[in-house]
Amino acid sequence: MSNGATSSKREIVVSGIRSTGVLHLGNYFGAMRNYVRMQEDYDCYFFIADWHSLTTHPDTKGLSGSVHRVLAEYIACGLDPAKVTLYVQSDIPEIAELYLLLNMLAYKGELEKTASFKDKVRQQPENVNAGLLTYPVLMTSDILVHRAVKVPVGKDQEQHLEMARNFGQRFNHRYGQEVFPEPYAFNFGHELLKVPSLDGAGKMSKSENQMATLYLNDDDDLIRKKVMKAKTDAGPTAPNTPMPDYIENLFLLMRLVSDDSTILHYTAAYNDAAIRYGDMKKALAEDMIRFIAPIRESARELEKDKGYLHKVMREGAEKARISAAATLQLVRHAMGMDYRFLS
Ligand code: ATP
Ligand code: MG
Repeated sequence: MSNGATSSKREIVVSGIRSTGVLHLGNYFGAMRNYVRMQEDYDCYFFIADWHSLTTHPDTKGLSGSVHRVLAEYIACGLDPAKVTLYVQSDIPEIAELYLLLNMLAYKGELEKTASFKDKVRQQPENVNAGLLTYPVLMTSDILVHRAVKVPVGKDQEQHLEMARNFGQRFNHRYGQEVFPEPYAFNFGHELLKVPSLDGAGKMSKSENQMATLYLNDDDDLIRKKVMKAKTDAGPTAPNTPMPDYIENLFLLMRLVSDDSTILHYTAAYNDAAIRYGDMKKALAEDMIRFIAPIRESARELEKDKGYLHKVMREGAEKARISAAATLQLVRHAMGMDYRFLS
């Protein structure tokens, strides 16, 4: 394992989570699990995306609470502030500066075609703000401000990463210098993950599908209730029947939190057309509780310790700004905007 002496050679990693509510199983398995593993071998910057949350949550009454909660959850899930840089996006003004500059290289047509923009236009037709349109540019700035190459994210972010590569390369070509490397979405070992909602309609989410999402602060009874309500049917009528999506989803969730023998048991029961979904869901709910409860309790304790959280935010912002300022210097130089230093 590398130590401080080799840290400058480590690959740079950036990722963030929006401060729009409580983290859920999708955030954990799509993103956080990778963060925790990456902290040992990469130079990691993980942030709380408070600016991004304003695109869909303009009411800021709950924002401070969400920012503290996400930070507490980062640490409760196993991130060590001594190993990774944890910070709040709005503490780094260089991100906003880079966003402004990259906006000049992003075109309305390509932004309007982004799947997440089209979804949001459908979901909030009364608030199609410019921030929503330029969300991929802000996300690009989050990544490129540290010149990161790996971005651990869930499947829903794949298209945004492609756009980040385009914007970065466009900058390099436009200004004739290789300021930015190409960042790629990252997941250990296999393809990017999408944790489905319990009702099978879309993904688990902080802002949508809330009764069909398992949150990392759900109490045991609520977890049982949500899992027991997950959609099933009367079961397969013949051996080795293909699985409907909603049953496939239950097995996917089971593979995340249950041990091999439990998974094998219910897979065999399905293939023998002898499965009892009530039993399967009971087992799944108990395994979910075993997984979620320790994170929930630890995050609740951390959330109370505001002094500690503020210290982490402060120190994280200091470290992140050093890296961000160095990038902005390169950017201004490439653009010929470092006026006072020109000979
Ligand atoms: P919101 O509904 O407010 O957008 P969200 O649940 O989509 O919240 P984000 O903050 O947008 O969460 O995303 C944080 C990270 O979690 C991203 O890397 C995203 O890809 C990942 N993620 C979110 N939901 C899922 C999911 N259901 N499965 C896998 N990864 C997910
Ligand atoms: Mg999201």
